[in-house]
Amino acid sequence: MTQPRLRTLAAGERIPDVPPTRRLLNGYVMLTWAPLGLQALEHRVFDGIVTEAQAVHHVNRDRADNRPENLVRMTHSEHAALHNDEDPTKGGRPFGTHCDRGHEFTPENTYIHGGNRHCRDCRRLAQRRWRQRHK
Ligand SMILES: [Zn+2]
Ligand SMILES: [Zn+2]
Repeated sequence: MTQPRLRTLAAGERIPDVPPTRRLLNGYVMLTWAPLGLQALEHRVFDGIVTEAQAVHHVNRDRADNRPENLVRMTHSEHAALHNDEDPTKGGRPFGTHCDRGHEFTPENTYIHGGNRHCRDCRRLAQRRWRQRHK
């Protein structure tokens, strides 16, 4: 059976009012309206309209996690710069192995607060600085 050809909605277009089918495509969520012959990548849809942004970044690097707080619109160059910093072949550190200050995220050195991962070393340092300022 051949799939009918679907047109991908362009930037600035509004998505249809009927509920889509969701399917995974290369780790991304593709919304599909087969009866209408339309499709759109879920992370590019903001308030029902396909974004004009060049790139949409997934904060937690999960390409299927399209909660609004996980999506940031940016330019191609901003987005490339962000990911180059995580590319070991370009001298970067892979995302998620170290905190911003370079402490390793081991199970012992990691705690979850507000849905985000935090570094215990950094918390200790912050507490020490605070005590020094408030004695
Ligand atoms: Zn990204
Ligand atoms: Zn740290």
